[in-house]
Amino acid sequence: MASIYIETFGCQMNEADSQYIADRAAASGYAVTGDAATASVVVLNTCTVRDNAEKRAYGRMAQFKALKTADPRVKLVVCGCLAEQDRDRMQGAAPYVDGVFGTRDLARLGDALAAWRDEFADDDEDFSVARLALDPLGGRGDCVGDAYAHVRAFVNVQRGCSYFCTYCIVPHVRGRFDNRPLADILAECRRALDRGAREITLVGQTVNAYREPAGGADFADLLETVAALPGIDRLTFLTSHPKDYTAKLAAVMGTLSALNPRFHLPVQCGSDPVLRRMNRKYTVDQYREKIALFRETCPGWALTTDLIVAFPGESETDFEATLALCDEIEFAQAFTFVFSPRRGTPAAHWEAVAPEVGNDRLRRLAAVVDRSVRAWHERKRGTVVRALVQGPSRKDRAKLAAKTTDNVTVIAPLGSLDEAHVQANPWIDVRVDAAFTWGVSGEILGTAPRYDAARIAVAERATIDLIALR
Ligand code: SAM
Ligand code: SF4
Repeated sequence: MASIYIETFGCQMNEADSQYIADRAAASGYAVTGDAATASVVVLNTCTVRDNAEKRAYGRMAQFKALKTADPRVKLVVCGCLAEQDRDRMQGAAPYVDGVFGTRDLARLGDALAAWRDEFADDDEDFSVARLALDPLGGRGDCVGDAYAHVRAFVNVQRGCSYFCTYCIVPHVRGRFDNRPLADILAECRRALDRGAREITLVGQTVNAYREPAGGADFADLLETVAALPGIDRLTFLTSHPKDYTAKLAAVMGTLSALNPRFHLPVQCGSDPVLRRMNRKYTVDQYREKIALFRETCPGWALTTDLIVAFPGESETDFEATLALCDEIEFAQAFTFVFSPRRGTPAAHWEAVAPEVGNDRLRRLAAVVDRSVRAWHERKRGTVVRALVQGPSRKDRAKLAAKTTDNVTVIAPLGSLDEAHVQANPWIDVRVDAAFTWGVSGEILGTAPRYDAARIAVAERATIDLIALR
């Protein structure tokens, strides 16, 4: 049977695109596999938001060439943001690739898959012959072909971005805002739920700027509508822009019980002059006001962010303002980056901060952020948390890796649990006995098919018992 392996780098938009590719492939009769070494089609969904993402994609392409050398029937495909940006260079540098599809070409990729499927049908030899041992995690990308992939669904609500932050490549490779009709979004959510999704993530680069194209619904309305779908288990969304976090959205977030208690609101930096040059459209004080509103309406939720250091012209004083803001806000998680110049963006032409200064600032920022992240994880020690399984732990396959609803990584031994049982019941209740910067670890107390309140009450009672025993 023809099979497809899809490896994804980058952000939630790429995750959603990979899901689209997997759906189109499945509709054409492919099996979606987690094993590149036995797949008839191998897809690399690439990212170009920073230079190292680009290097990793080219490195992985070179590794995949070995698959084609070992079996010329294999089709190699590159798609995503790097493919959009580097189409010509890629076709020249990697002639062994069968197709390069940009971010706006996904429907065409779906058509190519359908056409190739017929080619494979004429082949009388079995494709599932092991061709070579390829490190499945070599690229460190996410793969949609694993046994737990259907548990999380990423549903695109909007493509592109029109905000043009001066450092960002996204509007250049994905185009301007293009909001999907509400009916299409709901239909896709229903399909995901029918397939057994336990968690739906609504994705967009500036998801909270969503506006139904025909007029009417805004993002708060969209959240309410999706949260009311029959059978919905958990709901979450990525990524929000501070400018579009309104009082209406805050109020709605505070009342929807299906929403995961986490909010990702990138601040990027803590200095007004830098925010202005970044074209972020808010000041530090305006960001603080949004956070005050969030803490009032969504008490106890995790707040996470993105930060860039060494943006062109960032002085030591600017950077210290970022450190102070992080100390003040105490993020539950922060993704920190050194500025990476992107071709075609305004900031790429501005005078760069020396690389050693950038790396030193990244280290200092990590030290501050790690304190609040670790403190967030420490609060879970001695409690029972409910987490959605992601798959076997990468470091030890006898353990499961899962995510709590506030997005904290949980690692726990599978113990006597049967994997097939966990796949059918992917929520696990874990008693947390150790906290780290990367997450928490503990012991699995049981599984649950759904995120139902009754069982959580049992888990909470267990927490109280445990605390009483300490
Ligand atoms: N749309 C989201 C927003 O407005 O915050 C984020 C999109 S981007 C894919 C994810 C993160 O990558 C950004 O929040 C930013 O921190 C980081 N990033 C984007 N361009 C970058 C660059 N040129 N150099 C370093 N980090 C960058
Ligand atoms: Fe990039 Fe800014 Fe748009 Fe986010 S809001 S995708 S950082 S341009």
